Amino acid sequence: MKIVNTKKTPVYRDTGFYLENNKKTISAFSEETNHPHNPTNYIYSRYRNPTIVSVENQLKKIEDANWAILTQSGMSAIDVALSIFQHKSNKNKWMFFNDIYGGTNTYIDEILVNRRGIEIKRFYSENNTYNYQKLINQLDEFKPELLYFETISNPMLIIADGQKIIHEAKKREITVIIDNTFASPYLWKPLMHGADLVIHSATKYLAGHGNITAGVVCGNSNKLMQKAIEYRKLVGHMISPDDAYRLGDQLQTFNLRFSKQSTNAKKLADFLNKSPMVNKVFYPGLENHPTHAEASQLFNGKGYGAMITFQLAGENNVQKRKRCDLFIEKISDYFHLIPTLGDVETIFLPVDAVWADKYPFPGTIRLSVGIEDYDYLENIFSDILNQLS
Ligand code: PLP
Repeated sequence: MKIVNTKKTPVYRDTGFYLENNKKTISAFSEETNHPHNPTNYIYSRYRNPTIVSVENQLKKIEDANWAILTQSGMSAIDVALSIFQHKSNKNKWMFFNDIYGGTNTYIDEILVNRRGIEIKRFYSENNTYNYQKLINQLDEFKPELLYFETISNPMLIIADGQKIIHEAKKREITVIIDNTFASPYLWKPLMHGADLVIHSATKYLAGHGNITAGVVCGNSNKLMQKAIEYRKLVGHMISPDDAYRLGDQLQTFNLRFSKQSTNAKKLADFLNKSPMVNKVFYPGLENHPTHAEASQLFNGKGYGAMITFQLAGENNVQKRKRCDLFIEKISDYFHLIPTLGDVETIFLPVDAVWADKYPFPGTIRLSVGIEDYDYLENIFSDILNQLS
Protein backbone atom coordinates (compact mmCIF):
# COMPACT_ATOMS: atom_id res chain seq x y z
CA MET A 1 0.00 0.00 0.00
CA LYS A 2 1.29 3.44 -0.91
CA ILE A 3 1.51 5.71 2.15
CA VAL A 4 0.27 9.22 1.44
CA ASN A 5 2.10 11.90 3.36
CA THR A 6 -0.49 13.81 5.41
CA LYS A 7 -0.11 16.88 7.60
CA LYS A 8 -1.99 15.25 10.46
CA THR A 9 -1.43 11.90 12.11
CA PRO A 10 -4.19 9.65 10.75
CA VAL A 11 -6.56 7.65 12.97
CA TYR A 12 -4.80 4.49 14.07
CA ARG A 13 -7.69 2.27 15.10
CA ASP A 14 -5.51 -0.74 15.70
CA THR A 15 -5.75 -2.25 19.16
CA GLY A 16 -2.23 -3.66 19.01
CA PHE A 17 0.80 -2.73 16.90
CA TYR A 18 2.83 -5.00 14.62
CA LEU A 19 5.93 -6.09 16.50
CA GLU A 20 7.33 -8.22 13.64
CA ASN A 21 9.56 -10.70 15.44
CA ASN A 22 10.71 -12.07 18.76
CA LYS A 23 13.60 -9.64 19.14
CA LYS A 24 11.45 -6.53 18.58
CA THR A 25 8.76 -7.86 20.89
CA ILE A 26 11.25 -8.38 23.71
CA SER A 27 12.73 -4.94 23.21
CA ALA A 28 9.29 -3.19 22.99
CA PHE A 29 8.04 -4.84 26.21
CA SER A 30 11.24 -4.25 28.12
CA GLU A 31 11.20 -0.59 26.99
CA GLU A 32 7.57 -0.35 28.20
CA THR A 33 8.61 -1.70 31.60
CA ASN A 34 11.64 0.55 31.95
CA HIS A 35 10.21 3.70 30.31
CA PRO A 36 6.42 3.46 30.35
CA HIS A 37 6.24 7.04 29.09
CA ASN A 38 8.35 6.66 25.93
CA PRO A 39 6.14 8.41 23.32
CA THR A 40 7.50 6.36 20.41
CA ASN A 41 7.10 2.84 21.76
CA TYR A 42 3.81 1.50 20.37
CA ILE A 43 2.55 -1.86 21.64
CA TYR A 44 -1.10 -1.68 22.58
CA SER A 45 -3.56 1.23 22.19
CA ARG A 46 -4.57 1.27 25.86
CA TYR A 47 -0.92 2.06 26.61
CA ARG A 48 -0.19 4.49 23.79
CA ASN A 49 -1.46 5.32 20.31
CA PRO A 50 0.14 7.61 17.66
CA THR A 51 -3.10 9.51 16.92
CA ILE A 52 -3.60 10.23 20.61
CA VAL A 53 0.04 11.26 21.13
CA SER A 54 -0.20 13.75 18.26
CA VAL A 55 -3.29 15.42 19.81
CA GLU A 56 -1.56 15.44 23.23
CA ASN A 57 1.26 17.36 21.54
CA GLN A 58 -1.29 19.92 20.33
CA LEU A 59 -2.65 20.23 23.87
CA LYS A 60 0.82 20.74 25.33
CA LYS A 61 1.17 23.84 23.16
CA ILE A 62 -2.29 25.16 24.04
CA GLU A 63 -1.66 24.79 27.78
CA ASP A 64 2.09 25.66 27.65
CA ALA A 65 2.74 22.38 29.47
CA ASN A 66 5.60 19.90 29.32
CA TRP A 67 3.06 17.09 29.40
CA ALA A 68 -0.60 16.68 28.43
CA ILE A 69 -2.36 13.32 28.51
CA LEU A 70 -5.81 12.52 27.21
CA THR A 71 -8.42 10.45 29.00
CA GLN A 72 -11.89 9.35 27.98
CA SER A 73 -13.74 11.96 30.09
CA GLY A 74 -13.23 14.90 32.43
CA MET A 75 -14.10 12.60 35.35
CA SER A 76 -11.38 10.13 34.40
CA ALA A 77 -8.90 13.03 34.16
CA ILE A 78 -9.89 13.96 37.73
CA ASP A 79 -9.51 10.35 38.83
CA VAL A 80 -6.02 10.12 37.25
CA ALA A 81 -4.87 13.44 38.72
CA LEU A 82 -6.02 12.64 42.26
CA SER A 83 -5.27 8.92 42.42
CA ILE A 84 -1.55 9.31 41.83
CA PHE A 85 -1.29 11.11 45.18
CA GLN A 86 -2.98 8.40 47.22
CA HIS A 87 -0.56 6.46 49.36
CA LYS A 88 -1.30 3.61 51.73
CA SER A 89 1.35 4.12 54.38
CA ASN A 90 0.20 7.45 55.82
CA LYS A 91 -3.15 9.06 56.23
CA ASN A 92 -4.16 10.97 53.10
CA LYS A 93 -5.51 14.45 53.90
CA TRP A 94 -6.92 16.37 50.97
CA MET A 95 -8.79 19.67 50.85
CA PHE A 96 -11.40 20.62 48.24
CA PHE A 97 -13.26 23.82 47.51
CA ASN A 98 -16.97 23.08 47.89
CA ASP A 99 -17.99 25.16 44.86
CA ILE A 100 -16.98 22.61 42.25
CA TYR A 101 -18.78 20.49 39.66
CA GLY A 102 -21.46 18.34 41.34
CA GLY A 103 -20.09 15.15 39.77
CA THR A 104 -16.68 15.86 41.32
CA ASN A 105 -18.30 16.43 44.72
CA THR A 106 -20.11 13.09 44.45
CA TYR A 107 -16.86 11.37 43.34
CA ILE A 108 -15.17 12.83 46.45
CA ASP A 109 -17.86 11.43 48.77
CA GLU A 110 -18.51 8.08 47.11
CA ILE A 111 -15.06 7.12 45.86
CA LEU A 112 -12.45 9.03 47.82
CA VAL A 113 -14.10 9.08 51.24
CA ASN A 114 -16.45 6.07 51.36
CA ARG A 115 -14.35 3.58 49.40
CA ARG A 116 -10.77 4.74 49.67
CA GLY A 117 -10.95 6.19 53.19
CA ILE A 118 -9.29 9.48 52.35
CA GLU A 119 -9.74 12.20 54.96
CA ILE A 120 -11.06 15.31 53.28
CA LYS A 121 -12.08 18.81 54.24
CA ARG A 122 -14.22 21.19 52.22
CA PHE A 123 -13.64 24.92 51.96
CA TYR A 124 -16.89 26.87 51.57
CA SER A 125 -17.59 30.14 49.77
CA GLU A 126 -19.47 32.93 51.54
CA ASN A 127 -21.84 35.22 49.62
CA ASN A 128 -20.39 34.08 46.32
CA THR A 129 -16.82 34.93 47.24
CA TYR A 130 -13.92 33.29 49.05
CA ASN A 131 -12.52 34.48 52.38
CA TYR A 132 -8.78 33.92 51.94
CA GLN A 133 -7.90 34.43 55.60
CA LYS A 134 -10.29 31.60 56.43
CA LEU A 135 -8.70 29.45 53.73
CA ILE A 136 -5.22 30.11 55.14
CA ASN A 137 -6.42 29.29 58.67
CA GLN A 138 -7.94 26.02 57.44
CA LEU A 139 -4.78 25.08 55.56
CA ASP A 140 -2.78 25.63 58.75
CA GLU A 141 -5.22 23.73 60.95
CA PHE A 142 -6.05 20.78 58.69
CA LYS A 143 -2.58 20.56 57.07
CA PRO A 144 -3.68 18.90 53.83
CA GLU A 145 -1.18 17.37 51.41
CA LEU A 146 -3.30 18.38 48.46
CA LEU A 147 -5.63 21.27 47.54
CA TYR A 148 -8.18 21.13 44.71
CA PHE A 149 -10.31 23.92 43.26
CA GLU A 150 -11.91 25.26 40.05
CA THR A 151 -10.77 28.59 38.57
CA ILE A 152 -14.40 29.53 37.79
CA SER A 153 -17.02 27.75 39.85
CA ASN A 154 -20.25 26.26 38.59
CA PRO A 155 -22.97 27.64 38.49
CA MET A 156 -22.39 30.92 40.39
CA LEU A 157 -19.15 31.67 38.51
CA ILE A 158 -17.05 32.55 41.56
CA ILE A 159 -13.48 33.30 40.54
CA ALA A 160 -10.77 31.77 42.72
CA ASP A 161 -7.71 33.97 43.07
CA GLY A 162 -5.52 31.22 41.66
CA GLN A 163 -2.20 33.01 42.08
CA LYS A 164 -2.82 33.80 45.74
CA ILE A 165 -4.04 30.27 46.48
CA ILE A 166 -1.06 28.62 44.74
CA HIS A 167 1.31 30.96 46.62
CA GLU A 168 -0.17 30.07 50.03
CA ALA A 169 -0.29 26.36 49.20
CA LYS A 170 3.30 26.26 47.96
CA LYS A 171 4.54 28.02 51.12
CA ARG A 172 3.11 25.02 52.97
CA GLU A 173 4.34 22.43 50.42
CA ILE A 174 0.79 21.51 49.47
CA THR A 175 0.15 20.00 46.02
CA VAL A 176 -2.24 22.10 43.91
CA ILE A 177 -4.62 20.58 41.36
CA ILE A 178 -6.89 22.92 39.40
CA ASP A 179 -9.92 22.12 37.27
CA ASN A 180 -9.63 24.86 34.64
CA THR A 181 -12.55 23.73 32.47
CA PHE A 182 -14.64 26.93 32.68
CA ALA A 183 -11.71 29.36 32.32
CA SER A 184 -9.89 27.27 29.70
CA PRO A 185 -6.26 27.98 28.75
CA TYR A 186 -7.55 31.00 26.81
CA LEU A 187 -8.11 32.94 30.05
CA TRP A 188 -5.53 31.43 32.39
CA LYS A 189 -2.76 28.84 32.40
CA PRO A 190 -2.28 27.74 36.03
CA LEU A 191 0.90 25.71 35.38
CA MET A 192 2.71 28.95 34.55
CA HIS A 193 1.91 30.11 38.09
CA GLY A 194 3.08 26.99 39.89
CA ALA A 195 0.07 24.66 39.92
CA ASP A 196 1.14 21.01 39.95
CA LEU A 197 -1.57 19.59 37.71
CA VAL A 198 -4.33 21.11 35.62
CA ILE A 199 -7.28 19.11 34.44
CA HIS A 200 -9.99 19.91 31.89
CA SER A 201 -13.19 18.33 30.86
CA ALA A 202 -12.19 18.56 27.20
CA THR A 203 -15.82 17.67 26.50
CA LYS A 204 -16.52 21.38 27.01
CA TYR A 205 -14.58 24.30 25.48
CA LEU A 206 -11.63 22.34 24.11
CA ALA A 207 -13.88 20.13 21.96
CA GLY A 208 -16.57 22.81 21.74
CA HIS A 209 -19.14 21.06 19.57
CA GLY A 210 -21.01 18.85 22.03
CA ASN A 211 -19.90 15.70 20.21
CA ILE A 212 -16.90 14.32 22.16
CA THR A 213 -16.48 13.21 25.77
CA ALA A 214 -12.82 13.64 26.77
CA GLY A 215 -10.51 14.77 29.55
CA VAL A 216 -6.97 16.05 29.78
CA VAL A 217 -4.38 16.17 32.57
CA CYS A 218 -1.50 18.64 32.09
CA GLY A 219 1.64 19.08 34.15
CA ASN A 220 5.30 20.04 34.03
CA SER A 221 6.73 17.48 36.45
CA ASN A 222 8.14 14.37 34.75
CA LYS A 223 7.68 12.36 37.93
CA LEU A 224 4.00 13.22 38.38
CA MET A 225 3.08 12.88 34.73
CA GLN A 226 4.84 9.54 34.38
CA LYS A 227 2.82 8.32 37.34
CA ALA A 228 -0.32 9.67 35.63
CA ILE A 229 0.52 7.81 32.41
CA GLU A 230 1.10 4.59 34.36
CA TYR A 231 -2.20 4.98 36.26
CA ARG A 232 -4.12 5.74 33.04
CA LYS A 233 -2.71 2.60 31.47
CA LEU A 234 -3.53 0.35 34.43
CA VAL A 235 -7.12 1.48 34.93
CA GLY A 236 -7.77 1.88 31.19
CA HIS A 237 -8.75 5.56 31.22
CA MET A 238 -7.49 5.97 27.64
CA ILE A 239 -9.47 8.03 25.10
CA SER A 240 -10.43 6.38 21.78
CA PRO A 241 -8.28 7.29 18.72
CA ASP A 242 -11.38 8.47 16.81
CA ASP A 243 -12.40 10.88 19.56
CA ALA A 244 -8.82 12.09 19.90
CA TYR A 245 -8.58 12.73 16.15
CA ARG A 246 -11.78 14.78 16.11
CA LEU A 247 -10.67 16.65 19.21
CA GLY A 248 -7.45 17.50 17.36
CA ASP A 249 -9.46 19.00 14.50
CA GLN A 250 -11.72 20.95 16.83
CA LEU A 251 -8.78 22.28 18.85
CA GLN A 252 -7.66 24.17 15.76
CA THR A 253 -10.52 26.63 16.30
CA PHE A 254 -10.38 26.68 20.10
CA ASN A 255 -8.94 30.20 20.44
CA LEU A 256 -11.29 31.67 17.85
CA ARG A 257 -14.29 30.03 19.46
CA PHE A 258 -13.48 30.99 23.03
CA SER A 259 -12.68 34.56 22.06
CA LYS A 260 -16.04 34.99 20.30
CA GLN A 261 -17.99 33.14 23.02
CA SER A 262 -16.45 35.31 25.69
CA THR A 263 -17.01 38.59 23.80
CA ASN A 264 -20.63 37.61 23.17
CA ALA A 265 -21.09 36.70 26.85
CA LYS A 266 -19.76 40.05 28.08
CA LYS A 267 -22.18 41.96 25.82
CA LEU A 268 -25.12 39.70 26.67
CA ALA A 269 -24.41 39.98 30.42
CA ASP A 270 -24.41 43.80 30.09
CA PHE A 271 -27.71 43.61 28.22
CA LEU A 272 -29.34 41.21 30.73
CA ASN A 273 -28.09 43.33 33.62
CA LYS A 274 -30.16 46.26 32.31
CA SER A 275 -33.33 44.28 31.58
CA PRO A 276 -36.26 44.95 33.96
CA MET A 277 -37.23 41.28 33.58
CA VAL A 278 -33.94 40.16 35.09
CA ASN A 279 -33.43 40.38 38.84
CA LYS A 280 -29.72 39.56 39.01
CA VAL A 281 -26.90 38.58 36.67
CA PHE A 282 -23.89 36.58 37.87
CA TYR A 283 -21.10 37.26 35.40
CA PRO A 284 -17.49 37.88 36.51
CA GLY A 285 -17.16 40.62 33.88
CA LEU A 286 -19.80 42.78 35.59
CA GLU A 287 -18.58 45.20 38.22
CA ASN A 288 -21.32 44.05 40.60
CA HIS A 289 -20.04 40.46 40.58
CA PRO A 290 -18.48 39.65 43.99
CA THR A 291 -15.26 38.38 42.39
CA HIS A 292 -14.99 40.87 39.50
CA ALA A 293 -11.67 42.22 40.86
CA GLU A 294 -10.16 38.72 41.04
CA ALA A 295 -11.32 37.99 37.48
CA SER A 296 -9.85 41.24 36.11
CA GLN A 297 -6.53 40.54 37.75
CA LEU A 298 -6.29 36.82 36.97
CA PHE A 299 -7.50 37.00 33.36
CA ASN A 300 -5.58 40.20 32.70
CA GLY A 301 -7.83 41.72 30.03
CA LYS A 302 -8.37 38.51 28.07
CA GLY A 303 -12.08 38.44 28.97
CA TYR A 304 -14.30 36.93 31.62
CA GLY A 305 -15.43 33.64 30.15
CA ALA A 306 -18.55 32.59 28.32
CA MET A 307 -20.85 31.39 31.10
CA ILE A 308 -23.60 33.60 32.53
CA THR A 309 -26.02 32.76 35.33
CA PHE A 310 -29.05 35.02 35.73
CA GLN A 311 -32.24 35.16 37.76
CA LEU A 312 -35.53 36.25 36.25
CA ALA A 313 -37.43 38.99 38.06
CA GLY A 314 -40.66 38.14 39.87
CA GLU A 315 -42.61 39.18 42.93
CA ASN A 316 -42.32 35.75 44.50
CA ASN A 317 -41.01 32.25 43.79
CA VAL A 318 -44.29 31.14 42.16
CA GLN A 319 -44.12 34.00 39.64
CA LYS A 320 -40.40 33.40 39.02
CA ARG A 321 -41.00 29.74 38.31
CA LYS A 322 -43.91 30.53 35.98
CA ARG A 323 -41.78 33.02 34.09
CA CYS A 324 -38.94 30.53 33.93
CA ASP A 325 -41.24 27.89 32.38
CA LEU A 326 -42.47 30.43 29.82
CA PHE A 327 -38.92 31.63 29.11
CA ILE A 328 -37.79 28.04 28.45
CA GLU A 329 -40.81 27.34 26.26
CA LYS A 330 -40.20 30.44 24.13
CA ILE A 331 -36.41 30.29 23.90
CA SER A 332 -36.46 26.63 22.95
CA ASP A 333 -37.45 27.69 19.43
CA TYR A 334 -33.90 29.05 19.12
CA PHE A 335 -31.63 27.52 21.74
CA HIS A 336 -31.60 24.13 23.44
CA LEU A 337 -31.83 23.11 27.08
CA ILE A 338 -28.80 20.80 27.22
CA PRO A 339 -26.90 19.81 30.37
CA THR A 340 -23.41 20.57 29.11
CA LEU A 341 -21.49 23.73 28.17
CA GLY A 342 -18.84 25.18 25.92
CA ASP A 343 -20.56 24.35 22.63
CA VAL A 344 -20.44 26.63 19.58
CA GLU A 345 -24.19 27.14 19.93
CA THR A 346 -25.78 28.89 22.90
CA ILE A 347 -27.32 26.36 25.30
CA PHE A 348 -28.88 26.74 28.73
CA LEU A 349 -29.87 24.93 31.92
CA PRO A 350 -32.37 25.89 34.68
CA VAL A 351 -30.18 25.86 37.79
CA ASP A 352 -32.72 24.80 40.42
CA ALA A 353 -33.94 21.91 38.24
CA VAL A 354 -30.48 20.36 38.55
CA TRP A 355 -29.03 21.60 41.86
CA ALA A 356 -32.17 22.36 43.94
CA ASP A 357 -30.42 21.24 47.15
CA LYS A 358 -27.60 23.78 46.77
CA TYR A 359 -29.23 26.51 44.68
CA PRO A 360 -32.98 26.52 45.40
CA PHE A 361 -33.64 29.71 43.42
CA PRO A 362 -36.58 29.42 40.99
CA GLY A 363 -36.10 31.31 37.74
CA THR A 364 -32.30 30.96 37.67
CA ILE A 365 -30.80 30.05 34.32
CA ARG A 366 -27.22 29.10 33.45
CA LEU A 367 -26.26 30.11 29.93
CA SER A 368 -23.36 28.77 27.94
CA VAL A 369 -22.95 31.44 25.29
CA GLY A 370 -22.05 30.38 21.76
CA ILE A 371 -20.45 31.93 18.72
CA GLU A 372 -23.63 33.25 17.09
CA ASP A 373 -23.72 36.76 15.67
CA TYR A 374 -24.19 38.98 18.74
CA ASP A 375 -27.12 41.01 17.38
CA TYR A 376 -28.98 37.79 16.66
CA LEU A 377 -28.48 36.70 20.29
CA GLU A 378 -29.55 40.02 21.79
CA ASN A 379 -32.64 40.27 19.57
CA ILE A 380 -33.85 36.85 20.68
CA PHE A 381 -33.26 37.48 24.38
CA SER A 382 -34.84 40.92 24.14
CA ASP A 383 -37.91 39.58 22.34
CA ILE A 384 -38.43 36.70 24.76
CA LEU A 385 -37.87 38.74 27.92
CA ASN A 386 -40.45 41.26 26.63
CA GLN A 387 -42.97 38.46 26.27
CA LEU A 388 -42.62 37.57 29.97
CA SER A 389 -44.03 40.79 31.34
N1 PLP B 1 -15.19 19.49 35.55
C1 PLP B 1 -16.15 20.39 35.31
C2 PLP B 1 -15.95 21.81 35.75
C3 PLP B 1 -17.34 20.02 34.69
O1 PLP B 1 -18.30 20.94 34.48
C4 PLP B 1 -17.50 18.66 34.30
C5 PLP B 1 -18.74 18.21 33.64
O2 PLP B 1 -19.70 18.94 33.50
C6 PLP B 1 -16.48 17.76 34.56
C7 PLP B 1 -15.33 18.20 35.18
C8 PLP B 1 -16.61 16.31 34.17
O3 PLP B 1 -16.36 16.21 32.79
P1 PLP B 1 -16.91 15.03 31.87
O4 PLP B 1 -18.40 15.19 31.80
O5 PLP B 1 -16.22 15.25 30.56
O6 PLP B 1 -16.53 13.75 32.51
